[in-house]
Amino acid sequence: MFTEDDLLPISALQHLAFCERQAALIHLEGEWQENKLTVEGHGLHDKVHEDDAEVRNGVRLVRGLRVRSLEFGLVGAIDMLELTPVDSAEAGGVALPGLRGRFLPYIVEYKRGRPKLDHCDEIQLCAQALCLEEMLGASIAESAFFYGTPRRRHAVTLDMDLRAETGRLAVRLREIIDSGQTPPPEYAPRCQNCSLIDLCLPQAPRQEGSVSRYLKRTINEVTSEETA
Ligand code: SF4
Repeated sequence: MFTEDDLLPISALQHLAFCERQAALIHLEGEWQENKLTVEGHGLHDKVHEDDAEVRNGVRLVRGLRVRSLEFGLVGAIDMLELTPVDSAEAGGVALPGLRGRFLPYIVEYKRGRPKLDHCDEIQLCAQALCLEEMLGASIAESAFFYGTPRRRHAVTLDMDLRAETGRLAVRLREIIDSGQTPPPEYAPRCQNCSLIDLCLPQAPRQEGSVSRYLKRTINEVTSEETA
């Protein structure tokens, strides 16, 4: 079990599922750069958090709920949690502090654009569900994305394979963070969609180590050539 001080962000799992080096650059070296994709994503994300909790057609909507898991050592936030009243625990209902009855929890995460071909987003959704299951003592079989284009809900089954992969990535993330080592770049088609490509330099010489060491060495080389 981890403590509150040990928790790592769920967003890092998404980055890790995309590329280990990207996750290390962002979460070890703090080299995160905003690009158009991420800024637009924040805009939509912020909009989801505008209102306070409300009840619509009997379903309670909770926005921006912070979740964490001491088992997996993760922390993050859920865009929207739908709580549908149900009759019993057998129907998946959980009791909630300050509310009468039982409710079926259902996570909805808002995303810019279309469903992706990779499974990075599913990893995020599953990690959120693992956190919420631990916090509520619930079992969550399914969650969903709401994509901006087209504006449609897309359900994701939280099966054993997805749960196992999410757990494996949580372990790997901690290994990378604890090691303090940024993995070397591996140029791949995904690099063209990576917001860190100009910092990562995936086609630069590979033995250079971290971006900062690479840049420092390059600057030193240029400086010594100029003074020779
Ligand atoms: S440019 Fe490629 S290797 Fe570098 S962080 Fe991005 S995806 Fe990873």
